[in-house]
Amino acid sequence: MALRQVRKEGDEILKKKCKRVKEINASIIQLLDDMKQTIRELDAVGVAAPQIGMLKRVVVVEFEDELYEMINPEIIESEGEHKCNEACLSVPGRCGDVLRPFNAKIKAMNRDGEEYIIEADDFLSSIMCHELDHLDGVLFIDKATNIQLINEEQMRARKRARKKRIQERKLKRQGVYSGGRRR
Ligand SMILES: [Zn+2]
Repeated sequence: MALRQVRKEGDEILKKKCKRVKEINASIIQLLDDMKQTIRELDAVGVAAPQIGMLKRVVVVEFEDELYEMINPEIIESEGEHKCNEACLSVPGRCGDVLRPFNAKIKAMNRDGEEYIIEADDFLSSIMCHELDHLDGVLFIDKATNIQLINEEQMRARKRARKKRIQERKLKRQGVYSGGRRR
């Protein structure tokens, strides 16, 4: 496995549309492994292949101890909306609010070529939609309002807040959960 260099805003590759994966071969498996290592080492929740220089429709997200390896992911249903404050490995030093669907149903293939469905809501829906946008050359700053500059310390605080939010979400799910995905 190798930690790959993350492409930054201004790099033309981030504006390109990625190609569908036609065959899951050794280089796709390697790509998935490298992407997983990249998000773990950089303490991120997700990365899309173009961010490490590969124009392939591949996304890896790790959220609530769950690793989602997505090949040719597609949003097949979405509902509701909410605003989330987003940041991106490719856009260091900035964050901004982006309106995303509250629920998103995503169809993707795993590394074994099996199709599966992810029902993402809330924060996870924002993460998935943000990563899938990368596959079409769209960055969050293309859609964001209230874009703000953040320094390293603020970035670390963001990560702590994110972890806390994920933890709270987990507890809420384990505890009293009155059913119904819409609030
Ligand atoms: Zn991003």
